[in-house]
Amino acid sequence: MTDSPQSGANQPSHPKDTLTMRIFAGLVLGFGAGLVMYYSRVAFPDAMFAAWVQEYLIDGVFLVFGKIFVNLLKLMIVPLVLVSLICGVIASEESKSLGRLGSKTFVLYLLTTGVAITLALVVAQIFDPGAGADLSADFEPYAVKERPPFVQVLINIFPDNPMQAMAEGNMLQVIVFAILVGIALNHTGQHGRRIGAIFEDLNVVVMKLVQLIMQLAPYGVFFLVGKVFAEQGIDLLKGLGAYMGCVLLALALHFTLTYLGILTLVARLNPLIFMRKMRAAQMFAFSTASSAATMPVTMGIVEKKLGVRNSVASFTIPLGTTINMDGTAIMQGVATVFIASAYGIELGMAEFVTVIATATLASIGTAAVPSAGMITLAMVLGQVGLPAEAIGLILGVDRILDMVRTAVNITGDAVVTCTVAHSEGALDQAIFDDPDVVEVQPG
Ligand code: ASP
Repeated sequence: MTDSPQSGANQPSHPKDTLTMRIFAGLVLGFGAGLVMYYSRVAFPDAMFAAWVQEYLIDGVFLVFGKIFVNLLKLMIVPLVLVSLICGVIASEESKSLGRLGSKTFVLYLLTTGVAITLALVVAQIFDPGAGADLSADFEPYAVKERPPFVQVLINIFPDNPMQAMAEGNMLQVIVFAILVGIALNHTGQHGRRIGAIFEDLNVVVMKLVQLIMQLAPYGVFFLVGKVFAEQGIDLLKGLGAYMGCVLLALALHFTLTYLGILTLVARLNPLIFMRKMRAAQMFAFSTASSAATMPVTMGIVEKKLGVRNSVASFTIPLGTTINMDGTAIMQGVATVFIASAYGIELGMAEFVTVIATATLASIGTAAVPSAGMITLAMVLGQVGLPAEAIGLILGVDRILDMVRTAVNITGDAVVTCTVAHSEGALDQAIFDDPDVVEVQPG
């Protein structure tokens, strides 16, 4: 059974998490290489050399290998969600816990996002980052995209064609399909048990594939981070320092107060162990700026290093990846106050409540891919009568903030997962506490 975090696995212990350290080295080297490329282009803009760096390095090697790495990660999303969640439903049927698990998880995801946006609004009100912003500066107006109406969003959760859902990577639809298949397997006696056993074997194989791809992570991270900094350098601030500072401060506060608070006070788990084991996933999220691309890594860490049973993680992590975006909500809160203040518009209590409600819902609808938060920000701004075109103001610095907030997004998913698993008796404390659990070799 995959239900046990230790099942079918032996656990070699290592004194240090060497893969995490190699990923970190990739990140630092990528940052360095990116800056070297950026400043060599800036210093000699007309030289052949600058064109060569752009063409062969930034748009060549770095683009190609970074994209290949992200594709390899994305490749795992559909098989992982499908197979793992079917196994999870089979396991939770045995403990009759699916409904309870679902409601606890959903409430916690909404609650943490609500806290995140409130914190962001408080920070932005105190520091008023828009006070000194000069709106006479040119900015590219942001082309606002139409959002589908709420009813349509609701209908779209239910797939009419599972193959299409998988081909399009529509995660909510794949989740619904996997839950239905799992329920059907649970109600078809020995036929269901036979097929269920195949899915459990497949689950071990899929997790192994994730581990293999993880071995490439240090290189992937190097190319991804290198490209971002080669294109943008570090003089991104351009007068938006106060805005960036507020977003980063609110993210840091949410990270330390909310997450560590929940882990310590509610789940009674050691937050330092949690953070140390989550580092690899956070670096992935930072490099890819996509919770979806990071999901296989988050899932692996939560199950194998933090000791959460597959029956819980297979449900909560894909769901969290899709609907729980605390970091994104924080950016949206600060951005709303920043834009309002820069336009000289006063926001009252009613507007703040509207922002909290809309940003919490928007976080459900935000796709787990780079810059998706900008699209739903248009909706939040619209709710309080602010011009969505003003998003153009902050677009220039969004990539860096996107990287940081994505790391917060996936950390939130893991915090809620551990908390729910602990309350369900589905977290193996021995694995969680073991500082040396580095890798698990399935099979
Ligand atoms: N990049 C974020 C994520 O994937 C979404 C966003 O805020 O743009 O979690």
